[in-house]
Amino acid sequence: MNSPHILDLEFEELKKKLPSAFRAQQIADWIFTKGAETFDEMTNLPQDLRSSLKRDFALRKTTLAKTELSKRDGTLKLILQTQEGQQYPCVFLPHGHYQSLCISTQVGCAWECSFCASGLVKFERNLTPGEILEQILYAEKTTGKKIRNILFMGMGEPLANYAGTVGTIRWLTSLHGMGFQPSRIVLSTTGLAPQILKLSKENLRVNLALSLHAPDDILRKKIMPKSSKFPIKDVLAACKTYWQENGGEFTIEYILLKDINDQPAHAEALANLLTSARFPALPKINLIPQNPVGGIALGPSTESRAKNFFDLLKKRHFIVHTRKPQGQDLEAACGQLQ
Ligand code: SF4
Repeated sequence: MNSPHILDLEFEELKKKLPSAFRAQQIADWIFTKGAETFDEMTNLPQDLRSSLKRDFALRKTTLAKTELSKRDGTLKLILQTQEGQQYPCVFLPHGHYQSLCISTQVGCAWECSFCASGLVKFERNLTPGEILEQILYAEKTTGKKIRNILFMGMGEPLANYAGTVGTIRWLTSLHGMGFQPSRIVLSTTGLAPQILKLSKENLRVNLALSLHAPDDILRKKIMPKSSKFPIKDVLAACKTYWQENGGEFTIEYILLKDINDQPAHAEALANLLTSARFPALPKINLIPQNPVGGIALGPSTESRAKNFFDLLKKRHFIVHTRKPQGQDLEAACGQLQ
């Protein structure tokens, strides 16, 4: 029961534990290509190797506790359960000809962003790479569909679980593992500046999204009391370093909260802030409508105010998207995960 998940080791570490790199690759193929859930299924491995793998490692550390399908838009929420009985969600998002998976990195979240249901869930612990990757394995098996995009936007702050997140991305992008293009992965953070700087040296090249939600530190403190301990100027400087060193896309996420951060002056201040940061290019901005969360009094902007905000940013030459809520009826849309 307490054996480590085999995917908590990176491929290079796994190789060292095995008689050869060839055996490590066979195991990875069984897990990621053939969908093996037990070592006994790995029939082209010698029996004594299968026995020692069974003794030393686990291949599943979670169970799929529940699935819920949205009748409205086909979104599927999957709830995984750890061996200790803790639950965490991931959300399968169909977009016509391709699909994304929004994954969790922690059980609960300690960051208490004021608009987010996950912030109401008591932080229990970080998930390991194996437990994070199992979300993808279960989602692909349950739906029978290949996932194209991975979004680190579920429960938890990915950079507060630095080792778990980096270990997961290494398997995701490795040709020995899942072989995702880094451009198909978005790592979203509330702005842990020191970890963003550290991440910039890992050569992961995944897209970075910053949950900013306010154009100044005073307002940010009201919306994101814990993340705001990192001043915006330090966070943007860290993101700039990451972007310069890793390329890919850098996106600003901005949730529109009625009468809090959605006025024209906020849009102008946001445009000024991002322009003056002198990024390699203007970042894209995703405007996120606030989704209803029980126990959170904040409400969504009116349609006209949201449109005005959008238009003001467009006038300042930003590429702006408004995120379409998916899975609202399952409480699986942005900010609703519990
Ligand atoms: S937005 Fe992210 S960091 Fe903030 S409470 Fe929600 S899950 Fe945690």
